[in-house]
Amino acid sequence: MRIHVIGCSGSFAGPRSAASSYLLEHEDEAGRIWRVLIDLGSGAFGPLQRVIDPAQLDAVVFSHLHPDHFLDLTGLEVSWAYHERTDLPQLPIHAPASLPQRLAAVMCREGDVPDGVDTVPFAYHSISDRHVFEVGPLRFETRLVLHPVEAYGFRVTCGDEVFVYSGDTDSCQALDELAAGADLFLCEAGYLEGRDDRFTGVHLTGRRAGECAARAGVKVLALTHIPAWTEPQQALEEARAVHDGEIRVVCPMDILDVSP
Ligand SMILES: [Zn+2]
Ligand SMILES: [Zn+2]
Repeated sequence: MRIHVIGCSGSFAGPRSAASSYLLEHEDEAGRIWRVLIDLGSGAFGPLQRVIDPAQLDAVVFSHLHPDHFLDLTGLEVSWAYHERTDLPQLPIHAPASLPQRLAAVMCREGDVPDGVDTVPFAYHSISDRHVFEVGPLRFETRLVLHPVEAYGFRVTCGDEVFVYSGDTDSCQALDELAAGADLFLCEAGYLEGRDDRFTGVHLTGRRAGECAARAGVKVLALTHIPAWTEPQQALEEARAVHDGEIRVVCPMDILDVSP
């Protein structure tokens, strides 16, 4: 598997990056490339089109329904519903159950059918805690994590490769279990120790991400979801103080290989 970082700015689109979105790709033995988009936050549909034609997606997966993780589904819906290719299948979308209503509200309409067409462009699948689903050879397992809204982290396995994405969360047992032994752990570090201590149950810091990575024994820790007002180096230093393994901060358009 490999991960293309489409957007990684925490909580809102920043001057150098869109909000959260990651393209997971895997080429199977027959040479077919599977493409699953994980989150599509504010500003991310633009840069996604620099990497692939969105019509090539096999599925989209949403960790939770904060705008910085789902809002640009509005653009993907327009693109999919009105595409010149009229043979596009319904695109599978795995997300918390209220996504169709949330999308309809943003689009100012009742129901799931875009104006002017007669079919729903997406096939919605609800996720819940410890839910397992597959997209081709990619196996997804969900865990409910600690955030003010229903929010999930994902553990994706393919052959002997393990990729884990935290979504948005503070420290919790579920995240430790989800990340156990991951080859690549893409983990949010939205807060800083000290500065953000008045908030609990919302985001990790670099330190808390590093502590989780150490407990879980991950191979590579990749920090993400760092907001525009935070210097990435600070998150990195916090994580390095508590975890000896390989750590990096991701940037837009980075490509990360998941290798066991
Ligand atoms: Zn977020
Ligand atoms: Zn969030």
